[in-house]
Amino acid sequence: MKKLVADRMKLIDASGIRKVFALAADLKDPVNFSIGQPDFDVPETLKREAIKAIEAGLNRYSQTAGEKELIDKIAARAGAEFGWDNPAVLVASGVSGGLLLAFLALINPGDEVIIPDPYFVIYKHVVNLLGGKPVYVDSYPTFRLPVDKIANAITDRTKMIILNSPCNPTGIVYAPAEIKALAKVATEHDVLVLTDEIYEQFSYDWPSTSIGKYHEKVLVMRGFSKSYAMTGWRLAYVAAPASLRPVIEEMTKIQQYTFVCAPTPFQRAAIAALDYDTTDLAKGYIRKRDLLYNGLKGTFELVKPEGAFYAFVKAPGGSGTEFVTRAIKNNVLVIPGNVFSERDTHFRISFATSEEKIEQGVDILCSLV
Ligand code: PMP
Repeated sequence: MKKLVADRMKLIDASGIRKVFALAADLKDPVNFSIGQPDFDVPETLKREAIKAIEAGLNRYSQTAGEKELIDKIAARAGAEFGWDNPAVLVASGVSGGLLLAFLALINPGDEVIIPDPYFVIYKHVVNLLGGKPVYVDSYPTFRLPVDKIANAITDRTKMIILNSPCNPTGIVYAPAEIKALAKVATEHDVLVLTDEIYEQFSYDWPSTSIGKYHEKVLVMRGFSKSYAMTGWRLAYVAAPASLRPVIEEMTKIQQYTFVCAPTPFQRAAIAALDYDTTDLAKGYIRKRDLLYNGLKGTFELVKPEGAFYAFVKAPGGSGTEFVTRAIKNNVLVIPGNVFSERDTHFRISFATSEEKIEQGVDILCSLV
């Protein structure tokens, strides 16, 4: 088997998450704090749009870059929001798909990619798979954007900085001042910023800020998965100013030979999704966030989540993996911090579950300290 598998597979590893799921396999009705997807279903009106598209026969390939009406609508919105003339847009199969296309189009072996730590898992592994070099910039214990450390990490080999706000796994939403400070550094050094804004609509205390407004060399990625609970529909988009159209075109070329296009009937539903108001959905998460945070804060060390649906909590005893093993033995599924970090000192809770389960999970976790 060793000879069959490409050498590059040695560069990545999925054992952290696999171990958690192996431990969890026998649990009966656990408190599942591990899932990274909404606990509501796709809004009815959007389901209808997808069904209508299927019934109307829109079941074939779309253009590689996406359905024209969807692209035009995204371009108009991005243009207005970021002040861009004639932006470049690509509809991708999820932000995951968009990230893969961007990394394939941009990363040469040895290129450095600056990643604030903790980080969303995909960045590290795909960068490694391509022979790139993740350069982690530690943001513990506050998880605020470490702008000075990022500035110090920039070298001649820096290809891009990755930004993710609202952040998975920390739940932090960077304030406008942090985003503007990073934009200043990135502009001064002329470095590309790839901003993953998949949780953009889940910012609870203030609107999330996009660096797209403040930095010219930027790829903005936004997804439909989380906002409308359509994680299985595999839809997202990448938007960039006209100056980066050549990059979007290279990404589109790779899409042509890999994903081909994002699912056509769901692209039709996405046109309607862009007008769907998610305010009430986000409000539901504020209650869950408060329930979780207030329940844990007296017992655990954690920063109050400001967005997304995650809390990144310091593990009592110091080892994330050890505490997670105990939690799972007690029927609570959480993920060890080392899946999202070079450290193993924390664990991630997803509060995208029922309030009843949150209360139950908080009681169990607190009883383990
Ligand atoms: N970025 C972040 C930060 C995420 O949390 C996720 C999903 N867990 C993704 C990207 C990928 O989402 P999708 O591929 O469903 O758009």
